Amino acid sequence: MRVSKYLLSTQKETPADAEVISHQLMLRAGMIRRNASGLYSWLPTGLRVLRKIEAIVREEMNKAGSVEILMPMVQPADLWVETGRFEKFGPELLRFQDRHNRDFVLGPTHEEVITDIVRKEVNSYKQLPLNLFQIQTKFRDEVRPRFGVMRSREFLMKDAYSFHLDQETMDETYESMFQAYSNILTRLGLAFRPVIADTGSIGGSMSHEFHVLANSGEDLIAYSTGSDYAANIEKAESPMPTQIRGEATQEMSLVDTPNAKTIAELVEQHGVAIEKTVKTLIVKGSSEDTPLVALVIRGDHDLNEVKAEKIPAVHAPFEFADEAEIRKAVGAGPGSIGPVGLEIPVYIDHGVSVMSDFAAGANQDNKHLFGINWERDLPQAEAFDLRNIIEGEASPCGQGTIALLRGIEVGHIFQLGKNYSEAMNANVLDQNGKAQTLLMGCYGVGVSRMVAAAIEQNHDDRGIIWPDAIAPFRVGILPMNMHKSHRVQDMAEQLYKDLNDAGIEVLFDDRKERAGVMFADMELVGLPHVVVIGDRNIDNGVFEYKNRRTGEKQEVPFDQIVEFLK
Ligand code: ATP
Ligand code: MG
Ligand code: MG
Ligand code: MG
Repeated sequence: MRVSKYLLSTQKETPADAEVISHQLMLRAGMIRRNASGLYSWLPTGLRVLRKIEAIVREEMNKAGSVEILMPMVQPADLWVETGRFEKFGPELLRFQDRHNRDFVLGPTHEEVITDIVRKEVNSYKQLPLNLFQIQTKFRDEVRPRFGVMRSREFLMKDAYSFHLDQETMDETYESMFQAYSNILTRLGLAFRPVIADTGSIGGSMSHEFHVLANSGEDLIAYSTGSDYAANIEKAESPMPTQIRGEATQEMSLVDTPNAKTIAELVEQHGVAIEKTVKTLIVKGSSEDTPLVALVIRGDHDLNEVKAEKIPAVHAPFEFADEAEIRKAVGAGPGSIGPVGLEIPVYIDHGVSVMSDFAAGANQDNKHLFGINWERDLPQAEAFDLRNIIEGEASPCGQGTIALLRGIEVGHIFQLGKNYSEAMNANVLDQNGKAQTLLMGCYGVGVSRMVAAAIEQNHDDRGIIWPDAIAPFRVGILPMNMHKSHRVQDMAEQLYKDLNDAGIEVLFDDRKERAGVMFADMELVGLPHVVVIGDRNIDNGVFEYKNRRTGEKQEVPFDQIVEFLK
């Protein structure tokens, strides 16, 4: 590809409204453009990366024995009524009517549609187990779309659904999907961690998430230092049985006692980074049967100076009024929390987080820390009992201690049991000719979110550093003063041809730009390998090669360059 014929669209300035580095770099490198809140166009560079990831996902799904299909993004509401999710799913589900006043939804996920297909197409045990997947656009009317394509409203997902008559093949398929997800993330060259997960609005019994580890991640992962145990903090303990309800918020103020530590001190002690000043933090409370202690930080504080310590217990019912009121309190700014007892890393992490939608609180003796996920409708919000984390003991495995990491959820697999098949009458005949309800699994990968997650792990202050497997182009050709030197132009054209012939994807910067501009663009866009062509090197019979990740430079003789880059 010649830059002169391409849409490079790089920009120098960091966009003011982009909070996380991947979002900033995706805008600056000309990968995406925002059309409206949570809606993005993919420009050529972004699309090339998206398609690469999509191809890897598709290959691994095929390898694992899943079969590709494509279902509509627009779904009839009838199917959602059958499972009860037309009501239950909440405002993330975009509902609308066609010209005949029939109800439809924009698919946030496809359990209903696939179950409808399978109940019609599959009627014998001989056709099972069956695993079908698609790579399709999803729409979720996220309450706070943010971080670019990391949490957008329209996004690309790979979703797979498997059907079984026995738990044994269910387990086998689940295991094969677990393996496929590990393979995908390994091929993408990303550091990741599978964790035990909550089943959320999809429902079901067994579930794992795959997290790309990054400080900007919205999720907290609790893991044991002594075993393989790792869980999303939402699931790290069994949810407390109590529901959250309550009345008006009670104002509390910061305490400033002699032994209060500043957050800066705590941060140093626990090694958690503060990324930004939070404008407004809000009050938390307790569950109905647990008195609460809470920390409130109001106003535009510099967190480095905020004194954080235990606040006298407030024996009151939980202080959530309703969601709208809380959102008003938080304002349009980033998320917030109300933690206590800042001796514990989880507090600090939440305490200074600008990303988290996770609220934390604790009771008086600090033994019952709980968290609330803001993403949920508050009347249904579960309080998660995190006491083991406070005590520093490992959860169920009993080995080592609990530590915390931030992660970006890029994949999620579930065993759904008979939730959907029962509601939708998806039966097949077994060996004895008897009708049996199907067991079901579902498996999602956030393909577009992976693009951003990859950048979170692969960048420096000059731009993106693509792993080879997903680079928009593997090689950049950077001719110096090509428009003044015929020799440089000829060499560049020849190299461009040779690399294309060898099947290597190249971006040839044939613009009349200053070398500095061209270098900066190559580094911003993050091509892993750059070949510089200049008159001086031509005299010596070599190209100058530069590795984006290591910064190493090397001279490579003309006749070896293609082999070298292969
Ligand atoms: P999250 O907890 O981040 O909201 P989720 O649990 O709601 O995600 P799933 O229903 O498990 O998402 O969907 C499967 C995958 O789709 C997720 O693991 C994630 O990678 C991706 N995904 C979900 N919501 C979004 C979104 N708004 N933007 C981009 N990708 C998303
Ligand atoms: Mg979600
Ligand atoms: Mg989730
Ligand atoms: Mg999920």
